[in-house]
Amino acid sequence: MEKLDVINNRERFEKLKEAIQDYLDVRSTIKTGIEDEERIEYQKKKILSYLGGTENDWKNYKWQLRNRITNAKQLKELLNLDEKEAEKIAEVVRVYRFAISPYYLSLIDPDSPDCPVKKQSVPSSLELIEKGELDPMDEEHTSPTKIITQRYPDRLIIKVTNICGMFCRFCQRRRLIGETDTHASLDDIKEAVDYVEQNPNIRDVLITGGDALMLSDEILEWILRSLRQIPHVEIIRIGTRAPVTLPQRITKELVEMIKKYHPVYINTHFNHPREITKESKRACEMLADAGVPLGNQMVLLNGVNNDKYVVRKLNQELLKIRVKPYYIFHPKRVKGTSHFWVTIEEGMEIIESLRGRTSGMAVPTYIINAPKGKGKTPIMPNYLLYFGKDKVVFRNWEGEVFEVENG
Ligand SMILES: *Cc1c(COP(=O)(O)O)cnc(C)c1O
Repeated sequence: MEKLDVINNRERFEKLKEAIQDYLDVRSTIKTGIEDEERIEYQKKKILSYLGGTENDWKNYKWQLRNRITNAKQLKELLNLDEKEAEKIAEVVRVYRFAISPYYLSLIDPDSPDCPVKKQSVPSSLELIEKGELDPMDEEHTSPTKIITQRYPDRLIIKVTNICGMFCRFCQRRRLIGETDTHASLDDIKEAVDYVEQNPNIRDVLITGGDALMLSDEILEWILRSLRQIPHVEIIRIGTRAPVTLPQRITKELVEMIKKYHPVYINTHFNHPREITKESKRACEMLADAGVPLGNQMVLLNGVNNDKYVVRKLNQELLKIRVKPYYIFHPKRVKGTSHFWVTIEEGMEIIESLRGRTSGMAVPTYIINAPKGKGKTPIMPNYLLYFGKDKVVFRNWEGEVFEVENG
């Protein structure tokens, strides 16, 4: 190679490094749960002693579920809230209940008013703002059976429970969280499976909720086995936040059971690097080791992750634990969640900041849901500048313009 070329190449590599220098400067300030392990461990000890539990109890998902924090007084004591905040929470709880597993609670940093884990799980008086709708997706009118929602020709979702390890404050199905925990009845599940059986166009079935992994291994296995007996069901997907909010639920028994019904995919829901802990890593790795491909469906949330560096770090850390970022959802206009809403420009900027600057594997599709259940719709930054009959003009991730002959 000519000497001049070598110099030009070196300049090019320097320029590439510069393109991510802003991110490298802040990366270490956005901590994963693993990077803030000491703080989390301290909270865990405090919660365990408050609940009178042992290290073994902590590892037991049934203990975690039984001991979910559900009232303002417990929160006040465990998060050192002042009287006023506790009173506000008690007021919100009269309208929207809450539940936080001891594990997920331990990820909250009580000294940080902006803690992204707290914002997702602890009720806020902003939820009482009367904006938005209870069912903006109109799921109630796209249901061929009581617990199915179908909006697409070849796939559908079955909602098997309204229980979760933690009720997200931005939940799109708040209307179903109601007053009490309830699984779908066996009759309703049977009716859903029968519908799938009678409709050979359905080749992809999503089991969701609530959180599909809140079902017992026995009931879940009964559903998986019933679906697998239907020849036209090609893939089964499970929607669950358990790896994030209740990773103890991912047991050896569970993964051994799931792997009998492959291909089973799991889509989970990490929203912030702080949710990546030793435990959630272990849960994802156990599923991946059992041959379950893992995807992540993040929800873009004001104050939690509407930041391009937070999303870049999250997606890179997810790939390290074998979870592929699949979707970023624009927040839905659900009543009681308006403080989480962001603009579409914010979302586009985040997607644009990923492309080229990190692995394509770390770039999910940004989706907005059309109102009234009209479907997931991708939002793309515009790389196509001019569409002529003979030539098309684009810009690349660095903003350089180029043209390509059309055809
Ligand atoms: C999101 C969703 C699906 C799955 O959509 P994919 O784009 O295939 O992941 C299927 N049915 C309903 C009703 C949905 O809301």
